[in-house]
Amino acid sequence: MEIDTNSDFSSIDDIKQLQNQHFLSHLSYSLSHSVYYQSKFEALDLSLEDIQSIDDIHKIPVTTKEEIERHNVDFLAVSKKQIIEYVTTSGTLGDPISIALTHQDQQRLARNERRALELCQITAEDTIQITTTLDKRFMAGMAYYLGATALGASVIRSGIGDPDFQWDNIRRFEPTVLIAVPSFAYKFGNYLLSKGIDPKTTSVRKIVCIGEPIRDSNFEPNTLHQKLTELWDVTLHSTYASTEMATAFTECNEGIGGHLLPELIYVEILDDHNQPVAMGEVGEITVTPFGIEGMPLLRYKTGDLARLHTAPCLCGRNTPRLGAIEGRKGQMIKWKGTTLFPQQIENVLNHISEIDNYIIELSLDELGLDKLKVILPDHLDEYIIAQAQRLLQQRLRVNPILEQNTAAYISNEILPKGSRKPRRFVDKRELVH
Ligand SMILES: [Zn+2]
Repeated sequence: MEIDTNSDFSSIDDIKQLQNQHFLSHLSYSLSHSVYYQSKFEALDLSLEDIQSIDDIHKIPVTTKEEIERHNVDFLAVSKKQIIEYVTTSGTLGDPISIALTHQDQQRLARNERRALELCQITAEDTIQITTTLDKRFMAGMAYYLGATALGASVIRSGIGDPDFQWDNIRRFEPTVLIAVPSFAYKFGNYLLSKGIDPKTTSVRKIVCIGEPIRDSNFEPNTLHQKLTELWDVTLHSTYASTEMATAFTECNEGIGGHLLPELIYVEILDDHNQPVAMGEVGEITVTPFGIEGMPLLRYKTGDLARLHTAPCLCGRNTPRLGAIEGRKGQMIKWKGTTLFPQQIENVLNHISEIDNYIIELSLDELGLDKLKVILPDHLDEYIIAQAQRLLQQRLRVNPILEQNTAAYISNEILPKGSRKPRRFVDKRELVH
C-alpha cells in the first residue's frame, strides 16, 4: 500500500480542499448507510443539498457519546456480511460502545497508524515493541500492530504489564521503539534499574507515548517527560486517539502538538454551546473521521479538552496540530468552590519524585457533593505527604483528602483485573446514583 503523505506539506488551502472532498464523500456515505443519521437529518428537515462544503459543517448537529450509547445499533452502517471484526470502547463509565469494522476500516486503521509512526520518523529498519493490550476487543493495540507491519517494521507483541517478559523481549530482539503508556515506561525503567540494568544502555531509542500527556499546554515537557528522558536515552512522541474516531494525532520531532492526518479526519474545537472557540483557546475536541464504513460519525464530541494550533509546524507540515489533552469534560471536579481536572492533580503529584504511584478517587459525600481523595503508597513518610498537600494547595488551591494504602491496592486500582488500560483517576460518582 503506497501512501502519499505529501498532502501534509501542501499549502493550507490545498489541505482544506482535500478535507472538503473527503468530507463530502463521507457525508454522502453516512446519509445513505447510517439509519441514525438518516432519521436525524429527516427530523431536522436537513438534506445533503443543504451542506455544500465543509464550511457548512456547523449546520449538522453534533453527535454525543450518550447518543451512540443509546442508539448503538442504529449507528452501525453495514451488513453482517461486511463485518470482519467487533471492537468496543473502554466503557469506564456505563456500557462500552460496540463498533463493527469492515475490511476497509481495518485497512484505514493500518494507514492511520502507519502515518502516525512515520510522523515519529519510524521506518522499516525499526523494531517496535508494543506494550499495550492486543486483545480484549481493544482497537488501539491492533491498530499499532497493523500500522507497524504495513510500514514494514518488525513487531514484538509484548502486551500489557509483566516487566520480566518486557525485558526478555528487549534482550532477545533489541527493539528500537516502545509503544507504551508513559507512566508504565517510567515504572518499567525503574524496575530495570532495580535489577542492575541501566535503561539507557538498552536498544530503545524512541517511546511512542499513549494515554497520558507528556507536555503542558504550552508544549513544555512535563515532569513525566523529564523523568522518562532522565531514565531512558530516548526521544518521546505523544499520540492521541480514541476508539470512536479511529484516527491518531501524533507529534513530529518538533513536539509542538499532534499532527492531524488531513485525508482521515476533520477536527473542530467547540464550547459547551457547540460553537467554535477562538483559535488557540481550550475546548472540546469534536471530530469527523473520514472514510469509515462500519460506524461513520459526524461531528462527534469526544469529551476531551485541548487546543488547536494552525500555524505551520517547524517540520514543514501545514496540517493543524492538536495540543496536549488538558482534561476530560465528564471528569470536571467541583471541590469546595474550585473546579479542576484530575490531570492538574497528576501534574502536581508528578513533580514529587518520591511519589512513584497514586490514584485519584472521586466520589459523592452524603450531601451529594464531590469528595476528592488521593491515595498514596504507605511506604511514603509523613514529610512527603505534607509536601504533596502543600504543593496541591499552592498550585491548585485544593486540599484533597490524602490517604495511604498498600502498593498492591494502588496497582490494582490503576489496572483492575480484566481491564485494558491503566487509569490514574477513578470516578465513583456514577455508582452512587
Ligand atoms: Zn511538525
